[in-house]
Amino acid sequence: MVVRVALDIALGREFDYLVPSEWTDRVEVGTRVKVPFGARDLLGVVTSIHDQSDQPGLKPLRKVIGAQSLVTPKVLALARWIAGYYCCPLEVALKSVLPDAVRKEADGWRERLQVTCLSRPGDFPKLTARQDAVFRIVEEWRELPLQELLRLAETTPATVRKLEDLGLVRIAGKISERDPHANDVLVASRSLVLNSDQRTALDAITGAMDVAMAASKTAVETGEPAAADPAAMGGASQTFLLHGVTGSGKTEVYLQAMAHALERGRGAIVLVPEIALTPQTVERFKSRFSSGPLQTLVAVLHSHLSAGERHDEWHKIRQGRARIVIGARSAVFAPVDPLGLIVVDEEHEHSYKQEEAPRYHARDVAVVRGQREGAVVVLGSATPSLESYHNAVRKKYRLISLPNRATEMKLPVVRVIDMRQEQSRGGGPPPLFSNRLVEAITQRLERGEQTMLFLNRRGYSTSLQCRKCGYVAGCPNCSVSLTYHRNAQKLLCHICGHEERVPTKCPGADCGDPGIRFSGAGTERVEDTLTKRFPKARIRRMDSDTLKRKEDFRIILNEFRTGKIDILVGTQMIAKGLHFPNVTLVGIIHADLSLHLPDFRAGERTFQLLTQVSGRAGRGDVEGEVVVQSFTPFHPAIQYARRHDFLGFYDQEIEFRAQLGYPPFSRVALLTLRGRNEDKVKFGAEHLRRWLDEHASAWPGTIIAGPAPAPLARAESFYRYQLMLRSPRMSRLSKDLARLDEAVVLPDDLRLTIDIDPASLL
Ligand code: ADP
Ligand code: ZN
Repeated sequence: MVVRVALDIALGREFDYLVPSEWTDRVEVGTRVKVPFGARDLLGVVTSIHDQSDQPGLKPLRKVIGAQSLVTPKVLALARWIAGYYCCPLEVALKSVLPDAVRKEADGWRERLQVTCLSRPGDFPKLTARQDAVFRIVEEWRELPLQELLRLAETTPATVRKLEDLGLVRIAGKISERDPHANDVLVASRSLVLNSDQRTALDAITGAMDVAMAASKTAVETGEPAAADPAAMGGASQTFLLHGVTGSGKTEVYLQAMAHALERGRGAIVLVPEIALTPQTVERFKSRFSSGPLQTLVAVLHSHLSAGERHDEWHKIRQGRARIVIGARSAVFAPVDPLGLIVVDEEHEHSYKQEEAPRYHARDVAVVRGQREGAVVVLGSATPSLESYHNAVRKKYRLISLPNRATEMKLPVVRVIDMRQEQSRGGGPPPLFSNRLVEAITQRLERGEQTMLFLNRRGYSTSLQCRKCGYVAGCPNCSVSLTYHRNAQKLLCHICGHEERVPTKCPGADCGDPGIRFSGAGTERVEDTLTKRFPKARIRRMDSDTLKRKEDFRIILNEFRTGKIDILVGTQMIAKGLHFPNVTLVGIIHADLSLHLPDFRAGERTFQLLTQVSGRAGRGDVEGEVVVQSFTPFHPAIQYARRHDFLGFYDQEIEFRAQLGYPPFSRVALLTLRGRNEDKVKFGAEHLRRWLDEHASAWPGTIIAGPAPAPLARAESFYRYQLMLRSPRMSRLSKDLARLDEAVVLPDDLRLTIDIDPASLL
């Protein structure tokens, strides 16, 4: 038997090896193996099995790792699709598919020595005072890890061994699973009685699941994708877009759909944005499946797990003990088999797109995986992406709507405050808080209700400028200005982390004026101004500067939930998926911030952000209020968000996209070339452009723009130039772009990245 192996290092090709006869029944597609390669041994994954090979002089495998293949053949085929569509070698795609913790042979199951108390023999031996003290601890615990005992008893292994010799305890190796949520107390939850909209949604989903299961029983596994474009895969769609306002009960529909999958003997994956993967969210899923006939382990995958925890969660899934997986982006690859359902909650979130190779979009991968494995896919959002809603309009996805909140609660009242008016009244610079916002906060404090204030910019102020000569403190490595952090007393670059001392006079050439001024407020300044204005209020700030350790997020949210904080100030971190019944006021300090980004999705992002943030208000018994401060209050993104009018926003935005030929009317490939010498980068980019022009006839309808300096023209001392391709179809184009590295010879010190369906153009 011969196996083809993709090695862990990216060589862009696979290699054949002989399988010694005693191992043939341990090797299947997806098995991890160690193989000789040159002078070294390398790890890899078996990608196919053959009787013989046309490569001469094959070497045998060194080792077969683990009792079970780590990648299912289905997930392996998915990795191949990703490599093809997103222009990267298979080995790079496999890196995301198989987490590091699982691929590394060394990080296996952790075997820990456990000390167990044995019942006392009739004749209790005489113990020294020290032995007695140690034994009492074991007696109390009945069983505990040796390490723990040594720490508690401040003793040595020799003493414990002595107790073992006396027959009082047993020391034995046991596999102990690291469960990141081991200490959670779960209260079993039961299905709610659905309202009629939820019932309609659930019936559609479960109906499609039954059809898909029947069909996949008879389908022939070809192992090849039907088409490369996620949206181009057709047939009676089993992908749903669940458009439901915040609080409409989408999660309850997911839970009951998952229960249906379990009843039919299938598993489910739920993707949520990393930031929304809070203990609250996880608990909601765990408690539903913690008991009863559908009881199963729920595996949790996110980036804060230790390598060991990730390894254990992953194997729970692979062994079929955890049939429900909840996780961030990469959980879309979880080896659930057979798979019945994938839910992508907040499907419009940009964090589903991976910003390094493989640059996949987890929502689109979910849709492709669902098609291939006969699983139903539910994309849920209060503010669907233009792409997904357009797919629903074109009947590629099936649209289901939950237009009302599930409980009696009303959507909050949204007031848009024209900050230009506030500005002119006093004559001076615009205040940070409008009169209305100050009044509203005062009321909340009086009534003992909570407030969230949102500003998507950290630091104290965003730039430092000299009034006299116009000098702006900029980063020496990046084309951005430095942010002033008052607590740390530093000027900081948010791109590369460059730090500088805060100057007391203008450092500009021949200036030295002491009148340097800070402008553009960040969260630190909001906190500061609030503290002065409301000295009695309990105020906390939450942004990446205040979250130093991984528990901090949890701690602050807990304090907020238990009413120890009156006002929570934060960046987008506090915008998503959190549920606090006592929050009745949400203030958005500067709603225009995301509107003026040089990205065709700027309006869409602003609309989504405002709607999501507003959704935080009034989820309890009291009606909520949202105060939106803006300098462009009549911008459609702001006005439609004010009226909670997604369809209105969609209609005008889709018109704009159609006129300019932007997604969803095209697919974008973004090529970025980076290097330290600007002329070289520019020249290299022009060279790429010529190659693209020569081949353009193979991609009818494709528009090529650039090269031009990227919106972020310089980052970490690299100049950046971009070329943007907009094409009605991506499959052929991405296949050709994958060859670009070989086809166009560029100087060694230039780096090219290819981003298919980029989420951001910066
Ligand atoms: P979404 O996921 O759309 O934001 P949730 O599923 O969180 O909405 O539901 C919002 C609130 O409504 C939750 O407190 C939930 O328990 C409640 N809820 C959902 N469905 C029902 C129902 N059918 N009957 C009563 N309460 C419901
Ligand atoms: Zn910088």
